Formats: sequence, C-alpha cells, structure tokens
Amino acid sequence: MRDIQASADVAGMVGTETLHRLRHSPDDGTFTCWHCGGRGDANTEPATVIAELGDGAARDATRTAAHVTLALAHAECSPSQVVSTDAAPLALIESGTVGMAARLAGAELWRTMLADLPGPDGFLPLLLLDVRPDMAVRSESDEQTTRNVAALLSMGLAPITTIGRQLAHAIDGRAEGPDSEPWPVPRATGWRLELSGRRVARLTAPDGSVVWGREFDQPFPWRRSITRTRRCLVLIGAVGLYPTAERPFTRITALLEQAAHAGELVGGLAEAGWYVPGGAS
Ligand SMILES: [Zn+2]
Repeated sequence: MRDIQASADVAGMVGTETLHRLRHSPDDGTFTCWHCGGRGDANTEPATVIAELGDGAARDATRTAAHVTLALAHAECSPSQVVSTDAAPLALIESGTVGMAARLAGAELWRTMLADLPGPDGFLPLLLLDVRPDMAVRSESDEQTTRNVAALLSMGLAPITTIGRQLAHAIDGRAEGPDSEPWPVPRATGWRLELSGRRVARLTAPDGSVVWGREFDQPFPWRRSITRTRRCLVLIGAVGLYPTAERPFTRITALLEQAAHAGELVGGLAEAGWYVPGGAS
C-alpha cells in the first residue's frame, strides 16, 4: 500500500473508496505535486491528498462531489488539507485584524516581491513587502511609513541598514561594487510566514497578530523553498516599487539601499510553514 496521507476532513470529503483507489490502484502512482509543481511518485515516497473546493462549494450545504478536485502533494511539501477559495479570507482575518489595522496603516495595499536568496545552505526564500502605497502622496505616506516602521521595530523586526551582494544578486540577478562580507541575516524571533491554500499567505507577529496577508502569485520554486527551508527572509520597507511593471528590475537594489539608508527598511528571518484552518500540520 502506498503511503498516501489524508486528514480527517479530506477523508470525509473524498470518501474511503477514493482513498482506497489512490492507495492501491496501479493507475495512480505518479503525480504532479500540488504545492511545488514537481514530479512525485507515491510508490516510492510519502504523499498527501489535497481536496480543492471550487468556488461556492463551501456555501453549498450539499457539498456534492462535483465541486471537489483531488490533487496529490509530496508529504514534505504540504499536509493533507481541504483548500477552499471561500475559506481563505477567514484564515487571514481570524485573529489580530484589529491590531493590524490600528498599528500598520495601509497594510492591505502593501506590494510583494519574491526571490530566492543564495546562502551557505542553499536558497532562502525572500518576501519583500513595500509599504509605500502611493508615491504620488509623498508627504502623507512618509508619516504613515514612519509609524509603520516604528511599529514593526517594536514588534521585534531588525533595522536593515545595508544590502548585501547576496541580496542584490537574488533580487536583480547581479551585484555591483566590491566584494563585501557575507550579509548578516537578522533573526525575526517569533515571526511566522504562513502559507494557506489557494496561494494565500499571511505574516504574523510574535503576539500572534496578523500583520499582513493576501492572495498572490507564488512561483513553484519559491513555494518549494518555503516548505523545504521552513524559513523566509522578510523585508518590509518604504521601497517605492510602484509601478513595478514600468520599472526595470535593475533598479530594485538601489531602491532598497535608499530605503535602508533612510532608516525605512526592517526585516529578519521568520519561521515559515502551513496554516491549516482546523487541522494539524
Ligand atoms: Zn512537492
């Protein structure tokens, strides 16, 4: 029998017959991992069952099988879970929303950028959050930025004062200037980046409050880095990535350096993992 794990919720949704078929049928061995997009073979490695609910399924009391799509994931990539578009926003606002709104104005407008930072132990995933929502209203957003940065520092993130060559490489694909010491990555003790189904992620502070969360495009390699390293380097600052579409990628390191020199960049290495509503991970 294949080692294909299903949570109680998933098992209840897909039924014992389907699970038996997944575990024993000669037809269902190989799969494309729901989480990382890589190849998997349930005959030789542990796998998990993901039950994806289509739009509106969670509101439909009958929960007919037609709404559920099954997928398999590497066991090391994702726990068995039910993924629902309807449930995702709940996962984000379940706790700490008040704290977020009070302390970090404009968090719903923060922009994201993802990269993989090369390090001694392989690639480290990066999440860059740009808290300067609108360059056009500079004076207003400056005040807001100062408040946000102060709040983040008080919650345990570290000031980022220099941008190392590793980081420049990860973001822009190249680094300028002379070689420097390895970039010291500060710890963000108690901070967590939590993935949820449907490409939703959220960032929580040590007190458990949700500082940021949204659905966004997560490339497979980045998702794989998150679950393999169980870490994510988080950088939050008034970077001014707007509008990214028109701005050449080569400018981003320079923008980060400007923010660092202005004392408007904070961050640290956060723990990363899954947030599974009502389930164990
Ligand atoms: Zn995988």
